[in-house]
Amino acid sequence: MLNVPPPAFPAPRSQQRAAGGGRSKVPLKPGRSLMDWIRLTKSGKDLAGLKGRLIEVTEDELAKHNKKEDCWICIRGLVYNVTPYMEYHPGGEDELMQAAGTDGTDLFDQVHRWVNYESMLKECLVGRMALKPVAVPKGMLPEKKLLGVSAKDLTPSYDWFQTDGLITVVIYTKQKDMNAELVIVDCQDKRLRGEIIVNEHSYVLEVDLDHEVEDFFINIAEKIGKVEIILKKKDNVHWKMLGQPLESHNTFIKRKNRGLFYRKCKLVSKTEVTHDTKLFCFMLPKSTCFQVPAGQHVYLKQIIAGTEVVKPYTPLLPFLPLNFKEPSCHDSANIYLMIKIYSCGLFTQALDHLQIGDCISISNPEGNFKKSQVQALEDLFFLAAGTGFTPMVKLLNFALTEVSSLRTAKLIFFNKTEDDILWRNQLEQLALKDERFEVQFVLSEAAKDWMGKQGRISSSLLSGFVKRSRKDSKVLICICGPTPFTEQGVQYLKDLGYSQEEMHAFTA
Ligand code: FAD
Ligand code: NAD
Repeated sequence: MLNVPPPAFPAPRSQQRAAGGGRSKVPLKPGRSLMDWIRLTKSGKDLAGLKGRLIEVTEDELAKHNKKEDCWICIRGLVYNVTPYMEYHPGGEDELMQAAGTDGTDLFDQVHRWVNYESMLKECLVGRMALKPVAVPKGMLPEKKLLGVSAKDLTPSYDWFQTDGLITVVIYTKQKDMNAELVIVDCQDKRLRGEIIVNEHSYVLEVDLDHEVEDFFINIAEKIGKVEIILKKKDNVHWKMLGQPLESHNTFIKRKNRGLFYRKCKLVSKTEVTHDTKLFCFMLPKSTCFQVPAGQHVYLKQIIAGTEVVKPYTPLLPFLPLNFKEPSCHDSANIYLMIKIYSCGLFTQALDHLQIGDCISISNPEGNFKKSQVQALEDLFFLAAGTGFTPMVKLLNFALTEVSSLRTAKLIFFNKTEDDILWRNQLEQLALKDERFEVQFVLSEAAKDWMGKQGRISSSLLSGFVKRSRKDSKVLICICGPTPFTEQGVQYLKDLGYSQEEMHAFTA
């Protein structure tokens, strides 16, 4: 019989093996292997113990967490709650306890240098160490918000540093799951404005930069909530300071109390959708970077007869996602709006007179729809009337492409006549392609030969259409159109037994 050596497990360089240099490795209890740890980190459990928040930790705060059942360790400026990891640590609990409540970077470097702790412990991240007060040279921006922040303070803060060619502004949002939809940056003519959305609040950094910049880009470390705005210097000179603070600089207030911020966007195309509705494509300037989340609107501003007039419109995709592909990167620089031109409409008449190449002011996105409302959803219903269809487009795309639990997505689309139906062809094609999607058109001023449903929104129409795919399925019903339509729809749904949480009415 051949003498086959047993497979090397753990592998020779595995983190589960004892390190060289005589470091002892303790036997781990069953169910406490590295694989078990990885499984636990992916289970969605709150391992850091802070319900998804990230905090700034002072030395005093760190020192308090020095017991096995409550143990925080700082490694290279980041603080981790290692209590859940104790039993999985190959070096044993005693080894970890040597660094309990302190900066364990040196100890860590001695015995774990090869370990990718950032990834191993990322779910245990509590936050970063608060910087100690330093003397700020005269003329520099006030750094008050960075200093001596208590563990409870959730206000984002910022810092900046430079190399020969770049300035990096780092915003610590103290919020996990940061993403590009929560970051809005404008940088033009030496003015830098960065806005971070943190739930119902907005943090703004706004400065008149010390020198000109050529370009900028954004890096988001989603898990640790760090946003970097990297500015490319125009002249490779040393900046003495980031710049002079402007009015909103370093403020953290409720979103609804923040004034609208506009930038000029160029009209690049205008295409007919129906006899009175057009698809406008506006290009964001190179100096602006933002994305409009599903279900949110922007404000357009024009000077009409010497007066500033502002109206809300809902960005959508340039077409329905028939092949379920994300819009191309190129599209994130464009804002598509489907707008009905009213013959006596003040704003829409002026919009219709815009020529390709003309500019209009467009605000940051707003709105109270949250994507979390769609998560784990099984049945999604849309009740749309006329251009009330617009918020449904991105939402439908998101639900069909990213909500794996979705069983049905139904649109009941109310219009006056057949000629008023927006994207009818695309909707019918989508219904053919995806068996989860169904569309029903209802006309209030139908021609004699219309074979489909007729009338306006009513209880009997809704009771036949809005039905759970199974008892107790998770449902969301979105409704948008003229105000009386929306109000009546909400009332009928309540009468049919749907709860407030199961409905979302799009309003101003
Ligand atoms: P106005 O001068 O205000 O009104 C002139 C005439 O136009 C009225 O007498 C009436 O006949 C008609 N009219 C005006 N407003 C309405 C109305 N709201 N409903 C029915 N008839 C009206 N519109 C879009 O086309 N696309 C969108 O994506 C879109 N998104 C919106 C998002 C939100 C959050 C809200 C609140 C509204 C949205 N609207 C949208 C409507 C839009 O904001 C304007 O109300 C609309 O373009 C009319 O503006 P106007 O100045 O041309 O009309
Ligand atoms: P429209 O006048 O062409 O009417 C479309 C259908 O709405 C009608 O066929 C009818 O079924 C229904 N309807 C109209 N008036 C009604 C009433 N008084 N009671 C019950 N049902 C009624 O619609 P439109 O001109 O395209 O207007 C679309 C509306 O949607 C606008 O008021 C616009 O402001 C609103 N909208 C809101 C948002 C948002 O996010 N809040 C987004 C886009 C559009």
